[in-house]
Amino acid sequence: MVGNRKKRILSGMRPTGRLHLGNFVGALENWVRLQGQYENFHLVADYHVLTTDAEHTGEIGQNSLEMVRDWLAAGIDPGQSPMFRQSQIKEHAELHLILSMLVTTARLQRNPTLKEQMREMSDRLHNRSLSDADDVDAGEGIELVSYGHLGYPVLQAADILLYRGEVVPVGEDQLPHIEITRELARRFNRLYSEVFPEPEGKLTQFARLPGLDGRRMSKSLGNTIYISDTEKDTLQKIMQAITDPQKVHKHDPGRPEVCNVFTYHKRFNVEAVETIESECRAGTRGCVDCKKECAAGLNKELAPLRERRAEYNGRDDLVLDILVDGEKRARKEAGITISAVREAMKLG
Ligand code: SF4
Repeated sequence: MVGNRKKRILSGMRPTGRLHLGNFVGALENWVRLQGQYENFHLVADYHVLTTDAEHTGEIGQNSLEMVRDWLAAGIDPGQSPMFRQSQIKEHAELHLILSMLVTTARLQRNPTLKEQMREMSDRLHNRSLSDADDVDAGEGIELVSYGHLGYPVLQAADILLYRGEVVPVGEDQLPHIEITRELARRFNRLYSEVFPEPEGKLTQFARLPGLDGRRMSKSLGNTIYISDTEKDTLQKIMQAITDPQKVHKHDPGRPEVCNVFTYHKRFNVEAVETIESECRAGTRGCVDCKKECAAGLNKELAPLRERRAEYNGRDDLVLDILVDGEKRARKEAGITISAVREAMKLG
């Protein structure tokens, strides 16, 4: 709180379509929790998609609507927390342009996430296996990085500062981006006048939920369960999940610590976890029944989300109304900031 006012949070996601349980447990659930404590603005970061793929833009619009359906399903209240598309608020582009003059390319090239991406791009270019990636000079990748991609932390800074965001929930890997935002806010305030608060990164222990095969849950790896999956789909997917490979028969003692299904139990069947663990170790629990129980727990928790989502299925008009309303409110705030920026810079 600042006086009687709640602090403001800006959080957003790239619109990649339907969200999976990794997105839910890793971020969305946290947004819902923070809803009462802060004033929240939720950004559909559609311009950010272009930083890594400017050629295939045809699905961005529909993907944005699908993602917002999941936000609504999870319990984000649009009356309380505006949701809006970055591309519909021109001030993002204007502030991005201005801030991009206040940072050097050398500073942006030091961004550890970009370095990692450059290494991967260089690796792909040279057709090397990922295991050789350490031998690849990250500098080689810079030739493949677009001007917009290099500057995505500046666009992120513009997203946050445009709403005078004071708090940004981040995982540890995002902290360097917040640092760039803070540097830009400081530099602007020093050069012109005090317009921006210096946002704090609120380090959040984002829970990680592995995919059905134990790797990172990701659409491209085909190992996801979606919030919007049916109960039947969820059960079918869980039945295919990888468990302890050493537990072949029901009475073989198992090792819950290496089992994906057990990880899901820990999140979605909390009260039964101790029993599941001891029965698994003792070899009195079979994986088939255990998986069915896991799917039941998951389906039970997701039922209210799926019910809420069903109100918006096939109703793009309703989702668009919510976005248009959020955009009106966001645009008003963005307008206030941009006026202050122009005044501070004496741009007329
Ligand atoms: S019994 Fe359950 S926890 Fe144990 S290995 Fe099988 S699925 Fe995993």
